[in-house]
Amino acid sequence: MAPLALEFASYLISTPLTLLVIGLVFTIMLTIAHHRLQVEVDPRVTAVREALPGANCGGCNYPGCDQFAEAVASEEAPPAACVVLGEEALQQIADIMGIEASAEAPKRAVIHCGAHCDERQGRTEYRGDSTCLGMNLVAGVQACTYGCLGLGDCADACPFDAIEIVDGLPIVDYVACTGCGNCVGACPRGIITLKSMIDDPLVVVACSSRDAAKATRASCKVGCIACGLCARARPETFAVKNDLCTIDYTPETYKQTGDQEAAIIKCPTVCLRLVGTKILDPHEQVEEREREKAAKAAAKAAAKTKKDAEAKADA
Ligand code: SF4
Ligand code: SF4
Repeated sequence: MAPLALEFASYLISTPLTLLVIGLVFTIMLTIAHHRLQVEVDPRVTAVREALPGANCGGCNYPGCDQFAEAVASEEAPPAACVVLGEEALQQIADIMGIEASAEAPKRAVIHCGAHCDERQGRTEYRGDSTCLGMNLVAGVQACTYGCLGLGDCADACPFDAIEIVDGLPIVDYVACTGCGNCVGACPRGIITLKSMIDDPLVVVACSSRDAAKATRASCKVGCIACGLCARARPETFAVKNDLCTIDYTPETYKQTGDQEAAIIKCPTVCLRLVGTKILDPHEQVEEREREKAAKAAAKAAAKTKKDAEAKADA
């Protein structure tokens, strides 16, 4: 019994000691490994990362904020490439990097289609997958092969809830939109672009049709018919190319021409629309034009009636 008890006692003493020794050896090994293998992290990466909003939206063209912080710290990307960055955070990062904070006009999503459901012609019933991607694979769902399909893939892709589908057409909230570009990639029709908001509101072409005027008229009530009236009113800014109106957004040209209203009011189909933070729904501009047209027609009819009555009285 005695040798067994002795053995047990020595086991009790030796096990903690053995563990302690093993622990110490591993601690020393890990400390040496840590010092030998450690990668120096630029403290500016951490500081920049902390100043970023952390949205991980990909709008900067990097997979996430961590990678973007590294790119900024290594001077591979300018801080302003983060589309979600506010002025204060931009200045903070510029201070960390010791550079000037230069903010360009922010980019925002523009939908190049302005037709609500009742303005699109030749629509047929679609029973497939309830996505624009699925609908886009089916021929003949609507006469215009360029226009919006209205099932909201763009709205689903927006991480900032900046798009609402109203009567089959996306409406961008220009306060909420950060210009991350997720909607651009989500639209199977390719009708969303990011535009620099060099003005607010900004005039945009709410159409993508490359069809000739006759075909566009047959497929949509508010499509661009390439009449060129806008270009005649403001040749510095507007031009017709490939049967579609285009706008020169070069700040010097666009700003120099100032008020674009002269061209907008000439557009017979109201496919030139203003978008921006103060415009809730650009489609209201179509309704306003219709009201103006109706008022003009009523005034003309009243004048004719008056003239006829006067002629009658004279006779
Ligand atoms: S609408 Fe949404 S998804 Fe599109 S650019 Fe703006 S924030 Fe990004
Ligand atoms: S803009 Fe494109 S993604 Fe958005 S609803 Fe229209 S077709 Fe679909």
